Amino acid sequence: MTKAPDAVVIGSGALGGSVAYQLCRMGYRTLLIDRHAIASQTSPRAAGLSAVLRPSALMTRLAVRGVELLTAFEAETGIPIGLHHSGSLKVARSAALAAQIGAEMEKATAYGVTARMIDAQEATALMPQLHAEHAAAIGYYPDDVYLDPALFTSGVAQAAAGLGAELMPDTTVGEIVLEGGRVTGVRTTRGMIAAAIVVDAAGAWARGLARMVKLPMIAVRHQLLVTRPLPEVRPGSPITRVLDANVYVRPCDGGLMLGGYESEPLLLPDVPADVADMPLDRGVLEDLAAAVRLEFPVFGDLEGARARGGMPTMTLDDEHLIGPVPGAEGFFVIGGCNVGGLSTALSFAEALCDVIADPAAAEAIAPLLPARFAGGDVSEEALHQACRMHYGQHYWSTAARATG
Ligand SMILES: Cc1cc2nc3c(=O)[nH]c(=O)nc-3n(C[C@H](O)[C@H](O)[C@H](O)COP(=O)(O)OP(=O)(O)OC[C@H]3O[C@@H](n4cnc5c(N)ncnc54)[C@H](O)[C@@H]3O)c2cc1C
Repeated sequence: MTKAPDAVVIGSGALGGSVAYQLCRMGYRTLLIDRHAIASQTSPRAAGLSAVLRPSALMTRLAVRGVELLTAFEAETGIPIGLHHSGSLKVARSAALAAQIGAEMEKATAYGVTARMIDAQEATALMPQLHAEHAAAIGYYPDDVYLDPALFTSGVAQAAAGLGAELMPDTTVGEIVLEGGRVTGVRTTRGMIAAAIVVDAAGAWARGLARMVKLPMIAVRHQLLVTRPLPEVRPGSPITRVLDANVYVRPCDGGLMLGGYESEPLLLPDVPADVADMPLDRGVLEDLAAAVRLEFPVFGDLEGARARGGMPTMTLDDEHLIGPVPGAEGFFVIGGCNVGGLSTALSFAEALCDVIADPAAAEAIAPLLPARFAGGDVSEEALHQACRMHYGQHYWSTAARATG
């Protein structure tokens, strides 16, 4: 890039890469910086699941838009991202979670999302490894997709580069430089880089960069495993979420992927410098597999299964952090995705870039703006407690949490 960039994006994960791609499409000269190799941290280690039906109309709109943009991305760029229009199932054992699925059917109608209840026979026809005869309720959401997280994360950075973005790996941003409350650039291990727009897409490290405010977010360990190839696994079978156990399953590389949300997650207030330094705990995954033995007896044998994990972030109110950073004009953040920032990365990035281009667009994503926390001082202990709870009850609505 011979001229100074209009925008610097810090972090080449799914979110930063998607922001760079969208900015380039809008005509901004964009520099994408990463302290490590491009697309090498949490994003490529994710599961790659979507859930288009969300608790709020706003999040549902963004999730639906995310799937549209993923579908268009493959078609427009020709870059494969391993997208499967698989649909998804939700299985409930308890009455409280069966009621949650029932309530979702009404919500789906209100939000214009396709969903219906199905019986155990139909569920097993869709996902042959699922034993659903004990289920109290099964919801089917045909518009959900899954994708290959590594292909997608490198794909968006590659697509941004194809539109003129400069990629700068192995470069650490140490400081956001402000003058009179306005961003003027970033200080990096390669020197000062001037820019009027700076986006903090630094994932688990985003909070440490936005030091002028105290973003109520924290990194957490999240893990999954992929079995060896198994008979009769079909790549088009739906993602299956067993709500009571907080576990998800999907086809992967001829076997099955299993991940989930343990009730006592490992929070990471001191974020390791590289995701490869984060300790994995296979015992957690074995416990999650045991918790769905009724629905998926196939996980009784985990020989040859590979584990991986990363450091997504949780927030105080379980909502994302997307928008301008208060008190620092020209500085924006995108993160705090509560283990849901990959399949929606393109739509979150689109929403943020709309705000960058026109501040009035912020109103459309008001519940996600960092400004919602301005003035409220939350103790670290209260933040940890809230994030542990949101993580450990990930698939339970507030009503189901109340009834257990
Ligand atoms: C096992 C697992 C399963 C998941 N499953 C799903 C799923 O099914 N669906 C879904 O939507 N989400 C899922 N997630 C969550 C998803 O992975 C995250 O929300 C998303 O990847 C976050 O992307 P990111 O770009 O913010 O982070 P990252 O990919 O970590 O990128 C941040 C980048 O910033 C760089 N950086 C940090 N600090 C600096 C600095 N000072 N200077 C320069 N660069 C810096 C880092 O090196 C890194 O490359 C899962 C996560 C895990 C771990």
